Amino acid sequence: MGMNRSEIVALLRSDEQHSEKLFELSGAIRQQHIGNVVHLRGLIELSNVCAKDCLYCGIRKGAEGVDRYNLTDEQVIQAAKYAYENRYGSIAIQSGELTTASNANRIEDLLHQIKSISNGELGVTLSLGEQPFEVYQRWREAGADRYLLRIETSNKDLYRAIHPSDNLHSFDRRIEALHNLKECGYQLGTGVMIGLYGQTIDMLADDLLFFKEMDIDMCGMGAYLENKYSLLQASEYTLQQRFDLTLKMVATLRLMMPNINIAATTSLQAIDPLGREKALRVGANVIMPNITPTSVRKNYKLYDNKPISEDCLDIQDRSLFERINDAGFEIGFSQQGNSKHYGDKQTKKNK
Ligand code: SAH
Repeated sequence: MGMNRSEIVALLRSDEQHSEKLFELSGAIRQQHIGNVVHLRGLIELSNVCAKDCLYCGIRKGAEGVDRYNLTDEQVIQAAKYAYENRYGSIAIQSGELTTASNANRIEDLLHQIKSISNGELGVTLSLGEQPFEVYQRWREAGADRYLLRIETSNKDLYRAIHPSDNLHSFDRRIEALHNLKECGYQLGTGVMIGLYGQTIDMLADDLLFFKEMDIDMCGMGAYLENKYSLLQASEYTLQQRFDLTLKMVATLRLMMPNINIAATTSLQAIDPLGREKALRVGANVIMPNITPTSVRKNYKLYDNKPISEDCLDIQDRSLFERINDAGFEIGFSQQGNSKHYGDKQTKKNK
């Protein structure tokens, strides 16, 4: 559905009664274009070692109290096997940002191994930050299907306010990275944080227009949440406001881009234990259960109050899957759950 800025702003500002109507519509559009299915990506938090110092992030380089880890290859393959055997269909590998040649080689090698242990069946999303074009290309050739790189905010001034001002944290370079990923043929995902200090509803409307303009295939949006290493001013939005705004962003994006993949993100669960299920109801269709080895989970703390389950994976899975079913959805076991939007574009190209 084409919408202009003022229409989007009106939806994002809608009161409780009107947002219920929005949610009904976005939920129906999701059913119509995606169906009742929820796809899983087993999330592997590969390492919290990071070369960047994004002011909002709990694992930024300057966060001195953080206990740094890097999973072994064996741990990563073990987690991928777990996902494959439990019919997750896809995994997502996320990490702090490392741009060394040895890291690029390592990821390439892991991708080959993951594809091989799963007979090529496990879908792989990478979320490993900004990398040289040639590295994106190699990882794509080694089997990565999708890449998630959040723009964080599409407003250049706000972007500057939440990052150090140097070449490593340049808005233009991040935009360029998104274009490079698309050129390499990835299903392209981006997203923003919601409720940053200084972020207005107009800026959030522009974020949605940016996604449309970039013609993205997937999106992950989450509430900004404070952490003890954050150098940002505290949010002007209450947690409840950030939560409500995030749901409205998901719902509005679903109206604008009916067949993309939208994640129900963990930051919503951090505010409300049923936050992810609520996001599914208003239009999200992907969930990323954490399958990182439990011993290091406490160290990948992007924000305070991040839900960290110490349960063994089977128990964690069972309760999550039950809750998804209880919310009226079916889980797409053993399906990669690729972006329909991407699929349609490929079909058109090949005609
Ligand atoms: N290094 C990778 C992955 C980073 S962490 C990259 O740059 O893409 C993944 C996401 O966590 C970030 O893109 C950011 O949107 C989110 N995040 C970081 N700090 C956060 C905070 N304090 N509150 C909410 N989300 C946060």
